[in-house]
Amino acid sequence: MKLSLVVPCYNEENNVREFYATALRDFEGAEYELEMVFVDDGSTDNTLAELKALYEFDPDRVKVVTFSRNFGKEAAILAGMKEADGDCMTIIDADLQQRPSIARGMYEFLLSEPDYDCVAACQSDRVEDKTLSFFKKIFYKLINKLSDVPFEQGASDFRTFRREMAEAIIALPEYQRFSKGLFAWVGFRTKYIDYKADGRNSGESKWTFFKLFKYAVDGIMSYTVKPLYVPIAVGSALTLVSLIWFIVDIIAAAAGAQLKLWGVILLMFFFFGGVQLLSIGVLGSYLSKQYIQSKNRPNYIVRRIYKSDSAAVSGEDKNNGSI
Ligand code: UDP
Ligand code: MG
Repeated sequence: MKLSLVVPCYNEENNVREFYATALRDFEGAEYELEMVFVDDGSTDNTLAELKALYEFDPDRVKVVTFSRNFGKEAAILAGMKEADGDCMTIIDADLQQRPSIARGMYEFLLSEPDYDCVAACQSDRVEDKTLSFFKKIFYKLINKLSDVPFEQGASDFRTFRREMAEAIIALPEYQRFSKGLFAWVGFRTKYIDYKADGRNSGESKWTFFKLFKYAVDGIMSYTVKPLYVPIAVGSALTLVSLIWFIVDIIAAAAGAQLKLWGVILLMFFFFGGVQLLSIGVLGSYLSKQYIQSKNRPNYIVRRIYKSDSAAVSGEDKNNGSI
C-alpha cells in the first residue's frame, strides 16, 4: 500500500521544506508507504535547490521532476502523476493551504471503502475575496448549464484517487488540460468532502483575476461546443423573421399598400444577416465535431470488470474486481 503526494511547485522556496516536514508529521504511524513527487515547474527562485536537498536527504520517499521552463500547474500535475507509483495519489499544493492531514483522511477513506475511487475536497466556505467567490459561483453555474458532465460547485484539484482513475486521466492526450473538467469527464465514484483552505504558508498566489478569467474561459471552451451552435439559433430566427416579414409585405403590396424604402432595406439586412449567421453556424457545427475528435478521447472508460479467471480470453489475471 502506498500513497503518492503529487506536489506542483512554482516559486515555493520557502514552502517545500515545510511541506515535507508537515507531511511526515501528519502521516506519522501510518501503516502504508508514502512518497512525495515534487514537480518544479520552472521556478525562478531557489525551489529547485530546496527540492534537490530534500531528495538527497530522503531519496526513498522523495522524487523530483523538473521542467525546462514554467509550463503551468496543469502540466506539473500531469508530470507528477506519471511519475507517481502509489496505488493512490493525491494532488496537493506546496503552499500548505491544503493540509496533508486531510490527504491522509482521504486515503484512509479509500482504503476502507473499496467502492469509491476518489475523494475530492470542496470549498463551500471560501476564505477569499467576495468578488472572486461571486465570479467562481457564476463560473460553476455556467459550465454546468453548458457542459454534458457535471461540475461539483467548489471542487478543487485537491483530491485523492486510485491508480485506475489516474491512468484514465493520463491517457487523455489533449494539450489544453483543465483538471477539474478531466476529473468530471472520466467519471468514477467520487466522495466530496467539505474543507476550508488555510492561508498560504509563504509567498503569493500565482493567480491574478485575469489569469483566472482566462482559465475559466479555457475551461468552458474545453468542455462544451455549445457556443458554436449559437449562430445557428440566431441565424435561423433572423431568417425566419425576415421571411414572415417578406410575406406580410407582399400581401400588403397586393392589397395596394405603398411599401417604404427603409422597410425593404431593413428586411434585406435581416435576411442576409440571418443567412450569413446560419452559414457560420453550419461551419461551427462541423468545426465542433472536428474539435471533439481532435481531443482523441476514448469512447468510454471501464471502471472494473467482474469476470472469472476462466473467462479471461488472454489468460491474464485481470480479476481485479473479485473478493
Ligand atoms: N503552480 C505551479 N505552476 C504555476 C502556478 C502554480 O506549479 O504556473 C503551483 C503552486 O506552486 C502551488 C499550486 O500550483 O503549489 C497552487 O498555486 P497557487 O497557490 O498560486 O494558487 P491558489 O492556491 O492561490 O489557487
Ligand atoms: Mg495556494
